Amino acid sequence: MRLYPVFADIAGLPVLVVGGGKVARRKAKSLLDAGARVSVGAAAFGTAWASWIDAGSIHVLHGAFDPAWLDGKWLVIAATGDRALNARVAACAGERRILANVVDDAALSRFHVPAVVDRSPLLVAISTAGAAPAIARRIRETLERVLDHALGALVALADRQRGRIVRRHADIAARRRFYDWLFDGPVLPLLRNARHAQAEQALLDALATHGQESAAGSVALVGAGPGHPGLLTLQALRALQQADVILHDQLVSAEVLAMARRDAECIDVGKRCGGRQMAQERIQRMMLAHAREGRRVVRLKGGDPFVFGRGGEELAFLRAHGVACEVVPGITAAVACAAFAGIPLTHRDHAQSVCLLTAHGRRATHPLEDRALGDSRQTLAIYMGAEKLDEMAARLISRGRAPETPCAIVENGTLPQQRVIAGTLATLPGLLRLQAVNKPALLIVGEVAAFAREHAWFGELVEADTAGAAQDCASAAVA
Ligand code: SAH
Repeated sequence: MRLYPVFADIAGLPVLVVGGGKVARRKAKSLLDAGARVSVGAAAFGTAWASWIDAGSIHVLHGAFDPAWLDGKWLVIAATGDRALNARVAACAGERRILANVVDDAALSRFHVPAVVDRSPLLVAISTAGAAPAIARRIRETLERVLDHALGALVALADRQRGRIVRRHADIAARRRFYDWLFDGPVLPLLRNARHAQAEQALLDALATHGQESAAGSVALVGAGPGHPGLLTLQALRALQQADVILHDQLVSAEVLAMARRDAECIDVGKRCGGRQMAQERIQRMMLAHAREGRRVVRLKGGDPFVFGRGGEELAFLRAHGVACEVVPGITAAVACAAFAGIPLTHRDHAQSVCLLTAHGRRATHPLEDRALGDSRQTLAIYMGAEKLDEMAARLISRGRAPETPCAIVENGTLPQQRVIAGTLATLPGLLRLQAVNKPALLIVGEVAAFAREHAWFGELVEADTAGAAQDCASAAVA
């Protein structure tokens, strides 16, 4: 994060705007709205300033910029349209340790003025650090559509009743549930319909009745998707933002976790290596303990909780213990990796079915024993398959797949460091002996995997048979 976001209380503080044009006037307006004592310095003032000047709303400094204008100011905005002058204002401000903003010049600005969605006292501020104000504006427009206009009144009401709410719900978790009710319940619609007294009464009634009964905890088994935060479902996002406790796997990306409520307790129960059975039992006991204490627990898993995620076992355990459960599906690695590698899992000409497999089965029988695996018109998406590629390729070939069958490894699918390694059952194991495979990685086998070469559109693509030395190595492997 390059900029430190703040909301500044500048009420009553002297500030300076340099410039007498339209932009300067807009800046002066927002400073006045925030209650600052605004001085405006310019050689000439347009007619639009007349009313403020006549009413004495601003302190006028006529003439060429004088560094003495900065004396005693807390902030300055340079909005003159003259680059050199703006730079001088910024430099003089810097010498005096006054924060300066130069309109449309991020490099010269010590503070930036964000795009704002105003539902006062609720304020949403958006910044691109000056990189693309037009994008900030688009985001602002979107938020303007999404954020109910009554939210300001709701926040103001919550503020007025804050003392009562805190006294009634001393326990933080209970208070949070009350605020959830306030946000989701009948108060907001009443405010939207300008029924202010009724809205307030509804809140007071709820304070009088809610929370007597100890609130029951719950567990949501939530799929976090493959890592890209945009691939989280809205339902998953909602669950993350309401959770008191989040028990997450290692596969869950930092970007996804960043979308959780800030004060949620995040526990990494990553169990990718070693002691699997014990760890699983512990996780289940932890979920149960937190839920029994009345918390909203999210069990957050990479991809989908019911695809090689042991979600079924966890659901059975929780239900056996009488805990309220919900399952939020996620985009599983096969679906996400295929899409981000340009590989259609099915295709009218090449694949009529797709099979999701794991290379790490619980049973002694190898998942690749199945005859159907030899079917050249079936795509295989093999989870946890990259390490055992030699063995897997040999088995698939022995089941009838041609050595020329295209296949692709998708490493870190959907993440910025995604890499797709494309080859065939014959060439890929050789290449992978030369290149370390980064985890997590998914193996896709079948005619459709050839599309990775044509339709790669995200991240890096490595082609096994054009990767130089790999060729020799691969031929050796086949022989
Ligand atoms: N429940 C998860 C799978 C868990 S098993 C899901 O539905 O996706 C873990 C395996 O998933 C990894 O070994 C890897 O094969 C695969 N995987 C998960 N995320 C991945 C990603 N971003 N890129 C590639 N493979 C991934």
